[in-house]
Amino acid sequence: MRSNLQACDQLALHGGRPVREKMLPYGKQLVEEDDIKAVSDALRSDWLTTGPRVAAFEESVAAYVGAARGVAVNSGTAALHAAMFAIGVGSGDEVIVPPMTFAATANCVLFQGATPVFADVTPGELCLDPKHVMERITPRTKAVVAVDYAGQPCNYDVLRQICREHGLFLVADACHALGAKLSGACVGTMADLTVFSFHPVKHIATGEGGMVVTNDDALAQRMISFRSHGVEADFRQRQEQGSWIYEMHHLGFNYRLTDMQCALGLSQLSKLDRFLSRRRAIAARYSQAFTAMPGVRPLDVRPDVEHAWHLYVVRFDLARFSVGRADIFAALRAEGIGVNVHYIPVHYHPYYRERLGMGPGLCPVAEGAYEEIVTLPIFPGMTDEDIEDVVCAVAKVMHAFCKV
Ligand SMILES: *Cc1c(COP(=O)(O)O)cnc(C)c1O
Repeated sequence: MRSNLQACDQLALHGGRPVREKMLPYGKQLVEEDDIKAVSDALRSDWLTTGPRVAAFEESVAAYVGAARGVAVNSGTAALHAAMFAIGVGSGDEVIVPPMTFAATANCVLFQGATPVFADVTPGELCLDPKHVMERITPRTKAVVAVDYAGQPCNYDVLRQICREHGLFLVADACHALGAKLSGACVGTMADLTVFSFHPVKHIATGEGGMVVTNDDALAQRMISFRSHGVEADFRQRQEQGSWIYEMHHLGFNYRLTDMQCALGLSQLSKLDRFLSRRRAIAARYSQAFTAMPGVRPLDVRPDVEHAWHLYVVRFDLARFSVGRADIFAALRAEGIGVNVHYIPVHYHPYYRERLGMGPGLCPVAEGAYEEIVTLPIFPGMTDEDIEDVVCAVAKVMHAFCKV
């Protein structure tokens, strides 16, 4: 009822009263007292960095998604890098990635001296399109990185089939999709390696943090070495036996996640189901509200999918509006709604244009979607009132910019 009243009000952008005084962010962690206690317990323990909570967190995340092994690192980006190292991506190799993602998905290929090759996404879901993956395979292709855009699993049955036929590794960048399911199974076992992020806007937070899960012990061992300077994993064993000898076998990094952070991660993981169901409830309310608003189109969700709703993305049918996406974005921000755009296609970034000669034209579906998408706030701490503020602001802005 509020939304009906306010829909005709003057836009905040034009001097009217905003729907909200305080900006609602698009994503935010939910840290509670027991999370704080878990971290302070870690601080009082003997371990700050690699201790028992790291292994416990790895085992718990792996168990949650149904994978055999988890390797924790200090960001999702480091997890992607470790994944590329583990499967042996190197100079001369090509790795197929989607453009509708955060730059780290493609950057990790460059970290290893290889070439990211962009393949377009599906128009309805903005997930990597198997058809375009096929078109990009060359004798140099080593792997495919699929991104579960917004929290919807990619079509892994088809992607796995393609990778098997061409002898390619399949990596899932599931930074949006912790807890998402495809045909009843969790994202985490659909690819050779699956990458998660624990950045505060993601499903569970460790501050910075990431993990790769896999069923392959050899790949897990390579990543354990890689996250700690390329020193072989039996180093700790030797140390425990009182030996000073350790051997560096690979050019690794210090990508270790700390016990303090894993304490937070463990505590957060125990709430993941609750967080996911809140995200799903918010998405359901949005989707219901937007069916009554022509011109605002949520992305498609495939029927075999349980979405993890990291992002709630709508496309504005610009033919119906007197302004472009930039004005719609600015108007929503002025109403106190912290909208965002996920993502600028990676190949649009100056680095990719100037150093790699890429640019518009490479992936028309992603490029077209980019002109129309806006990400609305969705996070477990949102109140029902916050949700209605978003619906109200969208209705208000649509009404003001509607052509007829
Ligand atoms: C967040 C994110 C990353 C990077 O994770 P960080 O933990 O921020 O390094 C990579 N890929 C995608 C799709 C992401 O959303």
